[in-house]
Amino acid sequence: MTTLDTAPAAVREAPVDGEPCVLLKLGEVVLKGKNRELFERRLADNVRMACRPIARVDVIRRHGVFIVRTKDADTATVDRLAQRITDVMGIVWAHRAWRVGKDLASVERAALELMDGRIGAFAVRSRRRDKRFPMTSTELDRHIGGLVADRYGQPVRLKAPEHTLSIEVDRDEVFVFSGGLPGQGGLPVGMSGRALVLMSGGIDSPVAAYRMMRRGLRVDYLHFSGMPFTGPESIYKAYALVRELDKFQGGSRLFVVPFGKAQQQIKSSGADRLAVIAQRRLMLRTGEVLARRLRGSALITGDALGQVSSQTLTNITALDDAVELPILRPLVGMDKVEIMDQARRIRTLTISELPDEDCCTMLAPRRAETKAKIDDLRQIEKRLDVGELADQLAASVQEHRPVYGDTTA
Ligand code: ATP
Ligand code: MG
Repeated sequence: MTTLDTAPAAVREAPVDGEPCVLLKLGEVVLKGKNRELFERRLADNVRMACRPIARVDVIRRHGVFIVRTKDADTATVDRLAQRITDVMGIVWAHRAWRVGKDLASVERAALELMDGRIGAFAVRSRRRDKRFPMTSTELDRHIGGLVADRYGQPVRLKAPEHTLSIEVDRDEVFVFSGGLPGQGGLPVGMSGRALVLMSGGIDSPVAAYRMMRRGLRVDYLHFSGMPFTGPESIYKAYALVRELDKFQGGSRLFVVPFGKAQQQIKSSGADRLAVIAQRRLMLRTGEVLARRLRGSALITGDALGQVSSQTLTNITALDDAVELPILRPLVGMDKVEIMDQARRIRTLTISELPDEDCCTMLAPRRAETKAKIDDLRQIEKRLDVGELADQLAASVQEHRPVYGDTTA
């Protein structure tokens, strides 16, 4: 370990002699008490996996922060890593930082380099995770603040500065950085188990998937296409959506069921106004069969209360009745505007808005039932032998593996 050198740095013009790295701030993960070790390990794995296409990285765990290092890193690679890591659930901030020696001269050099060319008031905020460092945080703030102000002629302002220079003294090194990229927060994917998302080509189900991944669920996706009576467009959309959402977990699987013939059977069963709910129940049953095969313990849908006629409270109750697995509906209390904002932020909105032939339009009766009676639905389902039908549908799935960033498919 280098010793503290309080003398002015000899060659201040020299480039920073540290190494560029990414410093990560973790969210709720740190609150998990005894499980924290497990959470951190999972999160570190997820970070490593997300970075792999860019560079092989080491993730070093320190209390409450991760340090992401890579051999022979140039700043451009580190920038890309930081950007990529903002999609990893459980990360609150990704800072592109200089990792420098634990001596004042190194900190000074890094600070001057980082603040070079920045116009406007600034503040220095130091903290010590290693309290043995011979200067207090306040002393460090004052010293570096004075140095930067002298050199570049910019004023120090502690309240609402234009630029913040952060200095974090750690066990073996000091991190110096300015600004950072906000992450998603939440919990690491995989921590809460596994579930199956019923994925249409619409706006809502991708957002529902995002919100449950953010709560630590690893998800698979199930899409029903109207094939053979519609074109494959809805499958392309589902594929593109899953490929985009794959940035949040990696290793995503999309299962596609050709649903057209089953829909026709529902139609000719005389379901009439109940056709839409009967079809949704069949989707859920099929999802349940598949979820059990995949060891998933819940189904996820994009239902929002009252958004469309199939989403009244009575109808939601009729949907729950069809399966034993819990149905998670993370959007149930959200407005369409809120959902669309979120879809825009996670970059699924433009894909969802592409035109396609939704399999559901085929069945839409002139007036849909808003108060579906479960007994009536069961009558219809008896005529259809839905148990058998759901098994057949689940057996007919085609599996796809959309990979984030893969533009060849
Ligand atoms: P979305 O925008 O997600 O399509 P929506 O507002 O259009 O939702 P519905 O069409 O009633 O509402 O669908 C409600 C939910 O049912 C969807 O969020 C999705 O989870 C599921 N779902 C509907 N259609 C399909 C489909 N073709 N394949 C898989 N799941 C579907
Ligand atoms: Mg829809």
